[in-house]
Amino acid sequence: MVVAAASGVGKSSVSRALLESEPELALSVSATTRAPRPGEVDGVHYHFRSMEQFLAMVAAGEMLEHAEVFGRRYGTPRGPVEAALASGRDVLFDIDWQGFRQVKQKLPADLVGVFLLPPGLAELERRLRGRGTDSEAEVAKRMAAARDEISHWDEFDHVLVNDDLAATVEQVRAILHAARSTRARQPALAGFVAGLLAGG
Ligand code: ADP
Ligand code: 5GP
Repeated sequence: MVVAAASGVGKSSVSRALLESEPELALSVSATTRAPRPGEVDGVHYHFRSMEQFLAMVAAGEMLEHAEVFGRRYGTPRGPVEAALASGRDVLFDIDWQGFRQVKQKLPADLVGVFLLPPGLAELERRLRGRGTDSEAEVAKRMAAARDEISHWDEFDHVLVNDDLAATVEQVRAILHAARSTRARQPALAGFVAGLLAGG
């Protein structure tokens, strides 16, 4: 499941709340060339890498997808995603629309896309400033990029306005559970039903 939004809308907040209550959900930790914000830990929030290290991962085919966002490079390491899926866990991606497009191309039947909209641009700016970790220049850069990110809203299966955080988390959880119950995502069901009909 991809949760995408313009920076500051609240996707990290939503992802964090969802991961705390969904043990079968694994977060894909991205690699990035941007510097850590105060409090961010290497290997937990991101794999913080130099440009050389990042490009070497791309060249070695280690990225499921990668893109440039705000002049920095971001990418999804392929190995942990494949391991989680192979062990039957679902994977949550906090990536942008470019990453969503690439993963959708590679895993069309598996991917569920959720796009979060801000209630308004003034509120988005308040949230970016309220986070207190980005410089004024960084906030300005992210506000300028917000319109572009938002313009991709119609490529996603599900679109929510992140007004009340708790309500948004519940809606994303409902989407996750509904996606899990589709027939295609329950390959073991045919055997179960066969047993059921056989009187088992
Ligand atoms: P993103 O991951 O999309 O960049 P964050 O999750 O870091 O955004 O949220 C940006 C700021 O907005 C944070 O300070 C967060 O606490 C706040 N926030 C997130 N969702 C809401 C909401 N629904 N209402 C009010 N504030 C919110
Ligand atoms: P931030 O710097 O605020 O953590 O993230 C900036 C933007 O980069 C966000 O929109 C986030 O979703 C996106 N992003 C983070 N990791 C990845 C990734 O691995 N791939 C892509 N395509 N985008 C990412």
